[in-house]
Amino acid sequence: MKIRKNDTVQIIAGDDSGKLLASSDRGVRGRVLRVLPSRRKVVVEGVAVTRKAMRPDPRKGHRGGFIEKEMPIPVSNVMLVCRNCDKPTRVGFRIDGDTKVRICKKCGQEV
Ligand SMILES: [Zn+2]
Repeated sequence: MKIRKNDTVQIIAGDDSGKLLASSDRGVRGRVLRVLPSRRKVVVEGVAVTRKAMRPDPRKGHRGGFIEKEMPIPVSNVMLVCRNCDKPTRVGFRIDGDTKVRICKKCGQEV
């Protein structure tokens, strides 16, 4: 996966990507909370938020109502925002000794 936890990403698709993403999500930036490599999805803070109804559960101490939760979105719908040039970019890799380094395809810097 080219996207990692705590990366900042920008949403590049909206309307055509199913019901999870609203067109208003396009261009939004957020932090990656979780990466789901086997499903090729990511969870981005504040993006694709749904409200879920919760039943009151006194044993667990919650009173019910709605909780807001981010849904996983396809990783193809996001682009990494480079922390060096602050632009959404494609990610490349460079082999540095025996470690694989991610690089920004726009500015060539390590990200
Ligand atoms: Zn860059």
